[in-house]
Amino acid sequence: MSAVFQLTGGWIEVIAGVMFSGKSEELMRRVRRAMIAKKRVQVFKSHLDDRYSGGVYAVGSHDGRTIEAFPVDSSTQVASRIDPLAQVIAIDEVQFLDAGIVALANDLAARGRRVILAGIDTDFRGEPFGPMPQLLCVAEVVDKLHAICVLCGSPASRNQRLIDGKPAAYDSPTVMVGGAEAYEARCRACHAVAKADPAQLRLDQPAEPQSYFEIKTSSK
Ligand SMILES: [Zn+2]
Repeated sequence: MSAVFQLTGGWIEVIAGVMFSGKSEELMRRVRRAMIAKKRVQVFKSHLDDRYSGGVYAVGSHDGRTIEAFPVDSSTQVASRIDPLAQVIAIDEVQFLDAGIVALANDLAARGRRVILAGIDTDFRGEPFGPMPQLLCVAEVVDKLHAICVLCGSPASRNQRLIDGKPAAYDSPTVMVGGAEAYEARCRACHAVAKADPAQLRLDQPAEPQSYFEIKTSSK
């Protein structure tokens, strides 16, 4: 795959998918291989994701070199920290960044850089997440990863958001800091989004495909 684009300069590759689908692992695998190939690599990660806080988020290669990820929360921050000599720029959790990341990724690729982006493609409602739609369109290479649905064992393509153990309402904020919320990987059929109106909530019932459409049309 990469060999084709190495002849022509830079390119963008996107690793998209649901939570728990191994996007970060795949991004780190590609970064590690670029390091083995003696490429100069820079890694960024969204500031909102604190799973790796404490300096654990470092990519190591077998020859003993490690690379730390810069925490960022805007495309401007990424741009200001770009090492002009970096040949490979990788960004994890890119879905949290603003729309400016699309122009920046295009610019880097036009300047001959390999840009690797990993991000969640849909939010808990099952709708496109942040800059992901545009990034998927401008990328030369797209890989969509799946997790396993925790309810039925099928390939999971949706992020199930649970608040106090029940499906989150459609109009709850996409990014909530704090609160007793949890996420599960689920397939399309098992994915549930509660209605916005509390009086209409049927939280204890399993998801039905027709209720999903009902929710979407009534909430917009
Ligand atoms: Zn399922």
